[in-house]
Amino acid sequence: VTELLETLPYGPAPEAAKPALEWIEAHKGRFGLFIGGKWRDPSTQEWFASINPANAKHLAEVAQGGPDDVNEAVKAARKAFASWSKTPGHVRARYLYAMARQVQKHSRLFAVLETLDNGKPIRETRDIDIPLVARHFYYHAGWAQLMESELSGYEPVGVVGQIIPWNFPLLMLAWKIAPALAMGNTVVLKPAEFTSLTALLFAEICQNIGLPAGVVNIVTGDGRTGAALVEHEGVDKIAFTGSTEIGRIIRRATAGTGKKLSLELGGKSPFIVFDDADLDSAVEGVVDAIWFNQGQVCCAGSRLLVQEGVAEKLYRKLRARMEKLRVGDPLDKAVDIGAIVAPVQLQKIQRLVQKGVEEGAELWQPSWAVPAEGCFYPPTLFTNVAPASTIAQEEIFGPVLAAMTFRTPEEAVRLANNTRYGLAASIWSEDINLALDVATQVKAGTIWINSTNLFDAASGFGGYRESGFGREGGKEGLWEYVKKAERSTANAERKTQSAKRKTQD
Ligand code: NAD
Repeated sequence: VTELLETLPYGPAPEAAKPALEWIEAHKGRFGLFIGGKWRDPSTQEWFASINPANAKHLAEVAQGGPDDVNEAVKAARKAFASWSKTPGHVRARYLYAMARQVQKHSRLFAVLETLDNGKPIRETRDIDIPLVARHFYYHAGWAQLMESELSGYEPVGVVGQIIPWNFPLLMLAWKIAPALAMGNTVVLKPAEFTSLTALLFAEICQNIGLPAGVVNIVTGDGRTGAALVEHEGVDKIAFTGSTEIGRIIRRATAGTGKKLSLELGGKSPFIVFDDADLDSAVEGVVDAIWFNQGQVCCAGSRLLVQEGVAEKLYRKLRARMEKLRVGDPLDKAVDIGAIVAPVQLQKIQRLVQKGVEEGAELWQPSWAVPAEGCFYPPTLFTNVAPASTIAQEEIFGPVLAAMTFRTPEEAVRLANNTRYGLAASIWSEDINLALDVATQVKAGTIWINSTNLFDAASGFGGYRESGFGREGGKEGLWEYVKKAERSTANAERKTQSAKRKTQD
């Protein structure tokens, strides 16, 4: 541990890193798969390294799950489904409450571990990611209790295969596992290969709270492991969050199989500023929209659409603000922008920025340099961006903002909808009628007015077009994890009970 602490960037690491490094050390730096409530080595006998992107140092070895492991995990989930799906909602709720409480109890450990593994600032993991994780489990514990009354006539789908990305590792796990379990399904979850550690810590929580074996299985590995899960015949539903490219492959692979599918994919969300907007608030909004989590956010406001009359003024204020942002050690509480998750993502950002320059857009970056060591990229503003250019159309998934101007609200709507995606949008104006009018015309799953990147477990999230389909969160999100009950004794019983309740009411 001492050695690891000393290898962190910018001198010795803050004390805060210690519990997470000790947890890794307690596992001798190597993790197996969590299947049927037990830990086991992968059938492949292969492990891969999880790297701290802020300093390129090795954190831990993570198992590469193979098709045989996926098979074992699906079998364990199927076995557990028989009793979990019959467990009363209020009993399932107890487990979800226990998960929420355990996440809160170990929130510091989770936050530090997430920051070490992903590179996102500790201020975000501590104040946003982990509290939202707990909130998600609490919220869905409520729905578990309400299932019999509010969703009567529905039953769980079965064994669910869940595949998540690296940008909000534990939060995406919570978005997937909480509703699935609440509705009586069992789960095989595959974390993203860059960021498996918090999912493994979560598996320990499942063990500690006595969750029945096989209800949650965590199979780590790369895209091959994900593909094996998608193709497994014993899986009843696939829930995927990740790139549109992989989403397409998964849709093809599940076509005609009868598997239920939900896809949460990429985005290129517009951030629209009208000339009557409070520009100082809008600048803070932009910081949150595109520099939160280094811009590695599916709903990031990556296209700034600004009304011509205030464009120069807004850019001036924005550049001044960018000059003051701090990029560096994500464990430092004062840091605004942490590390990009992996060199391959950094290269993708660099390539697209180069493309923007070649296409004639005007590049602006702060005068200071990012740390030379580690995977860092400065906040970047492109102005004079042509609406059809690559950087206006392609998801960069990094701290890069592409700005364009418009003259009328109609043009703003046209530009906003000039995209293959439709995940989110943010509208800034002091005229609420204008903002609401524009909101109804922009095609996006979530629209914020004079705010951005606000999430809550109670409100559904998801996209249109190439941003995917299906919703997560809120009551809408539950439909992904239930199906119409088959005519069975259990169903008939439930109906009788519900009718009895209604008579009593
Ligand atoms: P990715 O699609 O490469 O990987 C996502 C997950 O899929 C990983 O766990 C990966 O191992 C797995 N995977 C890779 N190939 C697979 C295959 N053939 N079959 C099954 N699984 C496979 O995406 P990423 O690079 O990890 O994440 C970034 C992308 O995710 C961005 O495009 C972003 O917009 C999107 N995203 C969307 C949302 C949303 O809610 N809409 C949220 C977060 C991220």
